[in-house]
Amino acid sequence: MSEHSHTGAPSGGSIGDGPADPEHDTTAAYGLDRSYVSSLTRRIVSTTGETAAVASPIGRRPLAHVPQSSPADVAEAFSRARRAQASWAATSVDDRAAALLRLHDLLLDRQEELIDLVLWESGKARKDAYLEVAHLALTARYYARTAHQHLDTVRVGGMFPVLTRAEVNRVPKGVVGIISPWNYPLTMALCDGLPALLAGNAVVIKPDAQTMLTALLAAQLLDEAGFPPELWQVVAGPGPEVGGAIVSQADYVCFTGSTATGRTIARGCADRLVGCSLELGGKNPMLVLRDADVQRAAEGATRAVFSNAGQLCVSMERLFVADQVYDRFVDAFVSRTEAMTLGASHDWSVDMGSLISQAQLDAVTAHVEDAVAKGAHVLTGGRHRPDLGPYVFEPTILEGVTADMECFGLETFGPVVSIYRFHSEDEAVERANHGPYGLNASVWTRDGARGRALARRIRCGTVNVNEAYGATFGSLAAPMGGMGESGLGRRQGPEGVLRYTETQSVATQRLAPISPLLGMSEETHAKVMTVALRVLNKLGRA
Ligand code: NAD
Repeated sequence: MSEHSHTGAPSGGSIGDGPADPEHDTTAAYGLDRSYVSSLTRRIVSTTGETAAVASPIGRRPLAHVPQSSPADVAEAFSRARRAQASWAATSVDDRAAALLRLHDLLLDRQEELIDLVLWESGKARKDAYLEVAHLALTARYYARTAHQHLDTVRVGGMFPVLTRAEVNRVPKGVVGIISPWNYPLTMALCDGLPALLAGNAVVIKPDAQTMLTALLAAQLLDEAGFPPELWQVVAGPGPEVGGAIVSQADYVCFTGSTATGRTIARGCADRLVGCSLELGGKNPMLVLRDADVQRAAEGATRAVFSNAGQLCVSMERLFVADQVYDRFVDAFVSRTEAMTLGASHDWSVDMGSLISQAQLDAVTAHVEDAVAKGAHVLTGGRHRPDLGPYVFEPTILEGVTADMECFGLETFGPVVSIYRFHSEDEAVERANHGPYGLNASVWTRDGARGRALARRIRCGTVNVNEAYGATFGSLAAPMGGMGESGLGRRQGPEGVLRYTETQSVATQRLAPISPLLGMSEETHAKVMTVALRVLNKLGRA
């Protein structure tokens, strides 16, 4: 199917470590070499002798059989990571940043290989897979170039000028546990780990079982970029068992996935009093104001809603459109949606790819069927398209969605949007803020200042004005994450790296102690202190 070559992944031979019967020997279909796959899976810490199949939403047959880890393997991964972390923490920030910049170039050089693997595992459109490469390269460059700004020791004002010298160190947490989802197999496998490494930590990661190969190729690129291999430990297996073992040993947990699992992770971290960041679900609103450029907004809406077939935490599932432009917008949005090319293919021409699995297809189908049964209108789409790929579902626009329908407030995580008319901006803001989530929003207007003012009233961790999600997601200096049930903590920006550090304050007292001098009584000392405090305040000191 693909015309693209796999660098280091020669065609022919057979893939996976599974049985070589015709049912499993899918070499011809995927063009991956068994030794190539073995070179990837070797990275998994596993002694169980058990394997699990990695499916492909494009080819149906397993792509590979991947070794599984037990809780004991996770413990071994942690002890290897702890040993590696001790020497890594002693390296200079410049050396760590240099490795990130080498990774940046490797990602760009090896993009065809990375994208092909992402496509086999996820079924997404090639352009969506390319964005993963671009996001990771941006992440590597941003953290490499700003490393000193975040991690250098900072001198701060001491208790008394001259007498007290105070400074703040950023100390690595130790071993960070990362649990990642399947929807962006490449960027989610690395983007949170890169700042962890930069800050002097090691990582134990459990990628989602559906996208293990991409995560393993990402680990291999880290090795090639010059990170010590033991610093990045990969384990594989079911979430509750293997993910749970990570939560019970990590010095900090970074989780991306559903809100339900996020709560379980948070409880586990609370018991151990370790920190966590949780990047969770959303029901993201897009607002088209009455002064919006309707054509531009309609084009933006196709990306906002249907990128990655809607399996994107920051994609839009609720569209609120001003009365004055509603009809024009709907016409433009529907016709642009109907012009999209669909398919499960490696071709650049596909606008929207496949859903990843039968489970996703079932979930999306159930939301649409429930809405239609309760009276929603399908403006376009609404159908499974097995003729284009096993899990392809049409981009779907629903009108007339009401609060009793599942897709009104629950995350669909598929190519389905509900469109609503609004009469005033206050009403639009109120409806956008309805519900427990607060991840991402999008506002369309010809007046940027007005858009930014409105953004401040929307309870979401990121708001894009005249863009869907890419403007905030691609601005690496800007933190990204959710309010409410969309998460805790932030990736990207200073917070994205500082979460992996402990703040350590060191104060050195010079010349005089913080106690009465030369036989001075406590009472006199208190008076001297009081005078000093008043003087410092008069001088405007912090
Ligand atoms: P999920 O919560 O089912 O799984 C995510 C990861 O957690 C997987 O690796 C899984 O194996 C693991 N896991 C499952 N149960 C676990 C447990 N009890 N303990 C430890 N680990 C466990 O989520 P999903 O369905 O795979 O991913 C889709 C969800 O992720 C959506 O809700 C989406 O919005 C969210 N998401 C959020 C972001 C973000 O940045 N906010 C990004 C991508 C996806």
